[in-house]
Amino acid sequence: PGTLYIVPTPIGNLGDITLRAIETLKQVDVIAAEDTRHSGVLLQHLGVQTRMWAVHEHNEREKAQGLIEQLRSGKSIALISDAGTPLISDPGYPLVNACRAAGVPVVALPGACAAITALSAAGLPTDRFLFAGFLPPKQQARLTALQKLAAETATLVFYEAPRRIVESLTAMQSVFGPERQVVMARELTKQFETYLSGTVSEVLAQVERDPNQQRGEIVLMVAGAPSQSDEIPVAALQLLQLLSAELP
Ligand code: SAM
Repeated sequence: PGTLYIVPTPIGNLGDITLRAIETLKQVDVIAAEDTRHSGVLLQHLGVQTRMWAVHEHNEREKAQGLIEQLRSGKSIALISDAGTPLISDPGYPLVNACRAAGVPVVALPGACAAITALSAAGLPTDRFLFAGFLPPKQQARLTALQKLAAETATLVFYEAPRRIVESLTAMQSVFGPERQVVMARELTKQFETYLSGTVSEVLAQVERDPNQQRGEIVLMVAGAPSQSDEIPVAALQLLQLLSAELP
């Protein structure tokens, strides 16, 4: 069979496409794109003339079978999304899953991803992180999702729509408490790239004060909950100190 290539595209700055991505996009038989008009602009800029097929969230399950038949007949396909790494809060999972099941080789190219870009510059612990994608848009579902994450000790990484940033920070303030550290990364790799950091209540106040902070593309990161194993020794130590003071 042919190979399915997972090809990341820039998240803002066109210079972030890799040499290997350009080469792959030129060499494959077909590019499966989330939005062919949107990707057409990038491909034209790169001088890529490969034909495109539309594979988006609403048709990806049906399209997967057709693509697998193409791959089986020896055609190679590159999967791209509107921005960043396909499958990361973007279409592609049904196709990759079906390729794996059918024994079709899948090769992923490394490249731009907003979550990893934001995390690597945020100044929050990176040894363990949980990518939580987009929160549910409805308030109750959003609170429930946050409650499930409240005790998580790994750094949390969320994607957020600008029109919901105030609501999400407000919900985080009530579920995680106003003192939890957050970092909001906005417009990464673009002209107005900004990082805001502080406690949830500080960042919320800044975002509410400045409407510019409610525009563009946002990755919201939250420090993990303090780990229980850190707290027990501290409490045990205090108890030991108290006891030792009483002992003869
Ligand atoms: N597949 C993409 C990736 O690898 O990052 C993510 C696609 S998802 C549909 C779009 C979301 O990613 C945006 O709502 C925002 O949360 C985040 N995002 C994408 N580009 C960004 C950027 N330049 N700066 C900050 N966040 C960005």
